[in-house]
Amino acid sequence: MLTIKDLIRDEGTRAKYEAIRNMAGAHGMRSSIYDVNNICNLRCKGCFYFSSGEDQVPDQKDLGELKAFIEKEKARGVNYAILIGGEPSLSLDRLDMWYAGIKCSAATNGVKRIPRERYPKMRIGISLWGDEEYEERLRGKNTFKISSEHYKGDPNVYYLYTITPPNLHMVGPVTQKIGDVGLRVHYQLFSNDQNVEGMDWSEETFARVRDVMDEMLDRHPEVVVSSKYYHRVLTTRTMLGRRFGWMECPSVSEAVDERSPRPKRLAGFNSIASDYRTIHRCCTSVTRDCLTCHDGAAAMSWIMVNKREHMTSPDDFANWVDVTHMFAKLYEYIPW
Ligand code: SF4
Ligand code: SF4
Repeated sequence: MLTIKDLIRDEGTRAKYEAIRNMAGAHGMRSSIYDVNNICNLRCKGCFYFSSGEDQVPDQKDLGELKAFIEKEKARGVNYAILIGGEPSLSLDRLDMWYAGIKCSAATNGVKRIPRERYPKMRIGISLWGDEEYEERLRGKNTFKISSEHYKGDPNVYYLYTITPPNLHMVGPVTQKIGDVGLRVHYQLFSNDQNVEGMDWSEETFARVRDVMDEMLDRHPEVVVSSKYYHRVLTTRTMLGRRFGWMECPSVSEAVDERSPRPKRLAGFNSIASDYRTIHRCCTSVTRDCLTCHDGAAAMSWIMVNKREHMTSPDDFANWVDVTHMFAKLYEYIPW
């Protein structure tokens, strides 16, 4: 295997590597995903949370139980909690407990404001599906109009924009709008869990969306938090000649991971429901078919956990550094 000295050929990669070196170490990042509650103020078409019944758990409302659970998770080694839902903004008493207990970020639809003054350091990711008309059609509301007013100019907020095959033409204008309100964006791709007609990706739409995302990254480097290698892996579902899928996925909950041989995976990662007991299979829905899963977090984690495999040439290593650097920015291990 080549040494780091052999592998780093340019100053940009060197600077990024220096920034992530500690984070990527053995005691670096240990994240898990938690459902804060099992309710939401939207009913988006195609929402996997409700369609797969993840809300059907005996939601634990006791804040003392939550406090004890957070302590247990920290004792398990978790040092970063990714809070999802349901909808975290609807349970601020629970967010208070999380915020006081562990470094955390929240994923929200942005319709109800999470008060910045109450959580000054919390990273907030807002889900977004497209332009005004598309959001109204699929989510019943122009959520961007509402969320951008809530969070305009907030340096610790980004949009998590899920791109669908029919909405490629919106990516440019939507990215521009996000930049205009002083926020950032990270892209991921729609997974057609419910076989909606016209929503499957094809070789042609994969190639087009890759070009669009690359172009946006070149044109708006201060707005788009991404990496061209991430775009490539996401749209080809391959990395170093390997095909993404169940036997490669790094984001299966450790507590239920019985794969053999066990692939490289996120250390200690679990996705846990709002009863603090039920473990979801992985970072997304149990009803999702791994063969058509385009989960962006799983793709970037896949790259990240396979560091050694990228240590065979300067180009491969630069790609690994680029994606890990992006991950570190999104999950606050280094500044934007
Ligand atoms: S905002 Fe999220 S949890 Fe709520 S309905 Fe939409 S996709 Fe589902
Ligand atoms: S659905 Fe996606 S994230 Fe879940 S195990 Fe399969 S590949 Fe991994």
